[in-house]
Amino acid sequence: MTDTKRSPIRVLVADDESDVRDAYRQVLLEADVSKDLAAFRKLRARLFNKGDGTASGEPAPAGTLPAFDPVFCSDAESAVAAVRAGVAAGQPFAVIFLDMRMPPGKDGVWAAKCIRDLDPAAEIVICTAYSDTDPGTIGGLVPPEDKLSYLQKPFHPHEIRQMTISLGSKWRAEHRIIRLAYFDPLTGLANRQQAHECLDSAIEAARKQDRPMAVLYLDLDNFKRINDTLGHGVGDQLLCAVAERLRRVLRHGDAVSPAHGPGPLSGLIARMGGDEFVAILPDLHGAEDAGLVAARLIEQLQVPIELQENTVVITPSVGIAYFPADGADGQALMRNADLAMYFAKRQGAGNFAFFEQSMTTVALHRFAIEGKMRGALQRGEFSILYQPQFDVRTSSVSGMEALLRWDNPELGAISPDEFIPIAEETGMIIELGEWVLRNACAQAKVWRDQNLPPVRMAVNVSGHQFVMKEFPQLVMSIIRETGIDASMLELEITESVVMKDEQWAEKALLELKKIGVSLAIDDFGTGYSSLGRLRNFAVDRLKIDRSFVTSLIDCDDDRAIAQAIISMSRSLHINVTAEGVENFPQLAFLLENECQEAQGFLFSRALSATDAQQLLMRAAALGEEPTRTARLRSLIG
Ligand code: C2E
Ligand code: MG
Ligand code: MG
Repeated sequence: MTDTKRSPIRVLVADDESDVRDAYRQVLLEADVSKDLAAFRKLRARLFNKGDGTASGEPAPAGTLPAFDPVFCSDAESAVAAVRAGVAAGQPFAVIFLDMRMPPGKDGVWAAKCIRDLDPAAEIVICTAYSDTDPGTIGGLVPPEDKLSYLQKPFHPHEIRQMTISLGSKWRAEHRIIRLAYFDPLTGLANRQQAHECLDSAIEAARKQDRPMAVLYLDLDNFKRINDTLGHGVGDQLLCAVAERLRRVLRHGDAVSPAHGPGPLSGLIARMGGDEFVAILPDLHGAEDAGLVAARLIEQLQVPIELQENTVVITPSVGIAYFPADGADGQALMRNADLAMYFAKRQGAGNFAFFEQSMTTVALHRFAIEGKMRGALQRGEFSILYQPQFDVRTSSVSGMEALLRWDNPELGAISPDEFIPIAEETGMIIELGEWVLRNACAQAKVWRDQNLPPVRMAVNVSGHQFVMKEFPQLVMSIIRETGIDASMLELEITESVVMKDEQWAEKALLELKKIGVSLAIDDFGTGYSSLGRLRNFAVDRLKIDRSFVTSLIDCDDDRAIAQAIISMSRSLHINVTAEGVENFPQLAFLLENECQEAQGFLFSRALSATDAQQLLMRAAALGEEPTRTARLRSLIG
């Protein structure tokens, strides 16, 4: 984007006579506007009784800088071509002088009409040697009239210079106002206001021509992390680089189907704020076009971006909504494209999704949950259940897993599988997770004080808590505050969280280990991590994911995976707990393969604190039952 305040005024001259062009050239290339400006400042100083401006901190006029940047053409067609090129390059002409008659080619009025279509802001001056031209008629042909002036030939150089200065200043002032109102100051892209206006006109045109158009809503997946870790300066550089790539893809139009042919794709890219962008594609041929553009945008943005000191990789998520299928007006289209983007993001980074009506229902439900979750902790709607974990070799209770429950008066009981992801997206998981940790530890202390058999308290840790630098500190202070023994606490972290950033995980796990707590990898087997790499992690336990346990009996592959996990863990001295054990054949398999621990409905569902306490009391009262099965029977009833 050019800085219109400092750069010279762009002037276009179209005249078929070379003498006349030379006259312009002399005036525009040799004009020393600095003298005029200096005279103006002196006059202002005299009138308003100030210093002459140059001594009072105002910069001295740059006499050596060219005041004008003129381009000369000898016919109407090349003038129009020059304007088109200027607009495309983001360097429009401020003032355009057009000779009325340029035989044998098209005339000045023809050029003015074409130019007006290309650039509504240009100041056009029609120059004519004939007094028979009626300005009123031409004004009607090339509106608006306040941007059309006349100059009678032969002109005096002063007239050209004065006209260019005054029209150029007017253009600059208007340009600045338009930029403020319609453009994003950081990236130079259209802003939200312009996007909405452009969308409305694109819809209008699509309706008239009876053809589809699309809105693409784009959001950068990992922008916040880059902003937080590398600083806002780098974040700004990145946004500018992203804007440039978006511009390039849309300008080249190379994502569009071959039927569309080469040449620019007439779309608009806007920055809606933050890391959100919108592309309006008014000129679609087939329904698949928008998907091709989305794929191309994603592909191009994923190429590493070199900034001054960093190379960053950014992935976008894109949502697509079509007119008229997905919305009858601009607001609906924008909202639905945004919604589709949200669903694309949920599929993982770097995806795009087409809007579907069902998304609205899902989203409404989700927003209802999100809304009701606010303040739910303070209203006492959350509670914790405890699911016992058993040592299958001795049939004794070895641990309790704290599982969060939410019961809302209007929505009823909502499954953690549904509300935890939302709590994670909104950041509420931080507060909730801390609450669970504190209360579970306090409960463990109560049982300890009642002299019940000591069992581990297992607490689930969200990835959002795990990546917080302060998390180990928080764990330490809760242990101190509640007075439990650190070794009684086990933190469960899901495999996918650990594998997302292995280097970070290795360090974070070590730090937690130093506190003395034990660490378990939850839902193991779903994150495709190699067992060998576990050697690097300070973990004490793997919890084989329920999905493997469920299909132990009828799926050979899952049985083989479970067997491998158990035997590898044994050799690495890592304990194994099988999750979701629901029947005896599964238990038999685990015993056969010497898996130490199990958890599941076969033994017990998650219990209230009171029921869990009863179980622990039964375990305490249990004498030396002769067999493992007898012990188990008396424990689980
Ligand atoms: P998880 O940590 O893998 O917890 C085990 C889940 O499996 C629990 O579901 C439990 O009720 C269920 N389960 C246990 N045995 C069986 C069985 O035999 N059959 C079947 N079908 N299911 C069984 P729940 O309580 O619905 O929790 C689901 C997930 O929500 C948990 O999976 C955990 O990832 C998350 N979660 C629960 N509480 C918390 C919490 O306090 N913080 C965080 N961050 N996540 C939590
Ligand atoms: Mg768990
Ligand atoms: Mg699990």
